[in-house]
Parts: sequence; C-alpha cells; structure tokens
Amino acid sequence: MDKKKENKYLDIIVPCFNEEDNVERFFSETEKVAEKTDGFIFRYIFIDDGSGDDTLKEIKKLSEKSKRVKYISFSRNFGKEAAMYAGLRASSGELAVIMDCDLQHPPRLIEEMIEKIMSTGCDSCAARRVSRKGEPKIRSAMARAFYKIMNRYSDIEIVDGAVDFRMMRRKMVRAVVSMPETQRFSKGIFAWVGFSTAWIEFENVRRISGESKWSMWSLMKYALDGFIDFAASPLKFAGVFGGVTAVGSALYLILEILKTLIVGKDTPGYASTICLILFFGGLITAILSIIGEYIGRMYMETKGRPIYIEKESNIDDEN
Ligand code: UDP
Ligand code: MG
Repeated sequence: MDKKKENKYLDIIVPCFNEEDNVERFFSETEKVAEKTDGFIFRYIFIDDGSGDDTLKEIKKLSEKSKRVKYISFSRNFGKEAAMYAGLRASSGELAVIMDCDLQHPPRLIEEMIEKIMSTGCDSCAARRVSRKGEPKIRSAMARAFYKIMNRYSDIEIVDGAVDFRMMRRKMVRAVVSMPETQRFSKGIFAWVGFSTAWIEFENVRRISGESKWSMWSLMKYALDGFIDFAASPLKFAGVFGGVTAVGSALYLILEILKTLIVGKDTPGYASTICLILFFGGLITAILSIIGEYIGRMYMETKGRPIYIEKESNIDDEN
C-alpha cells in the first residue's frame, strides 16, 4: 500500500462471515461518512472468514468499483478473532477501526471516534453499548455475570457492554498484532496491551439482515476461553482448596487418634466413609479438569499453528 500517504489513511477492518446481503450496504453507509470526513482517506479491509455464500463475490464487486477496497479471503471459517487479527495485520494507516458488517456498529460514530482521538490525544476510542435492547434476556444476564467474574478474578479489567467496535492509533495496532497467541480473545488483548482509551456510548441496533453467528453454546465457550486466557485464578483456587482440605483432614486425624486413645475404638460408620470418598473423588476430578483446561490450551499453543490461512487477497496488488 502507498507508504507516502500512510499518515492520512483510516483503515476500516470488517470481518464478514456469510454477509452477502450486508457487504454492499455497509460500504455505501460508511462511504456517506467518508464523504463528510476531512483529513482521512477511508480504506476498507474486508475479511471473508470462509463464507459459504456470495460474500467474497460482493466484496470483489466493491473492489472493482473502488481501489480503496481491499480484501483477504480465508481458506475456511477461522472465527471473528482471526479475522480481526488478519485485518489489523494488513492495515498500515495512521488509524484503524474494527467494525461489524451488519451495521450494528453505526458508521456515523467513526467521525466521533476520530474527533475523540485527535482532540484528547488518546491512543484508542472504543464503543460501549448502553442498552441490550432486542437481545434475549438470558443472554444479557449471562453477559453481565461474565463481566463481573472476569473483572474480579482475571488480570484485566473489561468494560461492561464493550463491543469490538474500536478505533486505534498505529502504535496500539502494532502492539495488538505483536501478541502471538493463536487462541485470541481481543477484548482481553485490548485491555492487556494498555494505552489510553476514550469511550463512547451507543444504543444497541439490530443487525440489518441475517442471523447472529453466536449460539448460546458458542458464547459460553467464548466466555470461558476469555477467562482462562487472562486468569490463572482457577489454578490458585484449586491449590487453596487442596491446602485447606489437607489441613482439615490432618486435624480430623489427630482428633480420631485422641478419641481412640481416650475412649477406645468404636465401630466405624461406612456411610460417612463412602460419602467422604465420593466427595473428594469428585473434587479431585473437578480440579484435574481445571488443570486439564490449561494444559489443553498450552498444547494447542505449543503447536504454533497460524492464526488463519489466506486463500486469496488483493492487498499486494498494484494500485
Ligand atoms: N463474523 C466473522 N466470523 C465468524 C462469525 C462472525 O467474521 O465466525 C463476523 C460477522 O460477519 C459480523 C461480526 O463478525 O460482521 C459480528 O458477528 P455477529 O453479528 O454474528 O455477532 P453479534 O453481533 O451477534 O455479536
Ligand atoms: Mg451482529
């Protein structure tokens, strides 16, 4: 990409998975903002995350219309995290912003974000949903619980309602891309790399077309992944619990010895013995599985697999 003009570019990174109906609309809505914005040339980096529909075709149509439209197409679906990473890696503008393709991240906020970053000198500006209207109640409740646990027990602080709609200066983009983990949790990574962030708020909007790709199950898995990626506290909990149990059993043993010495032997109770065996058996299994979760992640991480595999792209094409 043109290095000389680097300072003037805003790269818009758009992960797309089966968004054939939304690509064109996203582009035209964002272009309206581009026309009004002085000082920055908007450049688009669409990431086709292994879509099974005509998303890539739609993106290519746009790239034929405008040289400012770039794309990377993955060899299969690698997930939004991988798509965001690929986009950030490919970006080279002074500013980069990550946005959903379904217009749930209103393009009009781009202007506000640029304004905030330029006027306050912040390194990034992120959007926070203040309402969760149109979202199932149970999903909102679980999300809130997740933020509470995350902020209490992990190494990082995550703002409730924070979405992946975030504009960053080049140096923050570089820091995010330098994080090598293959199992990525961007909300945590953004917090972990530091830098100053200004927050802007917006009301939840429904997606323009199609369905959310998140099922209840995948959201739960995402929450667990995020927690484990940035928290070692479950391992500490296992240790503390083990220690307390050990001290408790030692005290109980002393009590039993004293009782035998003073009152003599009585008939042992099978029921209580079985209960204790079962209880500790269960507990040990649970603790082992917590440890297993971490080991499993270490195993995947040590393989050093790439975060995504590119099938095609127009990024290195001559302009
Ligand atoms: N997305 C993606 N890969 C996936 C799932 C989603 O690139 O595996 C994109 C999707 O096309 C959209 C954005 O990530 O642009 C947010 O997805 P979605 O609207 O399904 O999530 P929600 O808004 O419900 O959180
Ligand atoms: Mg959405």
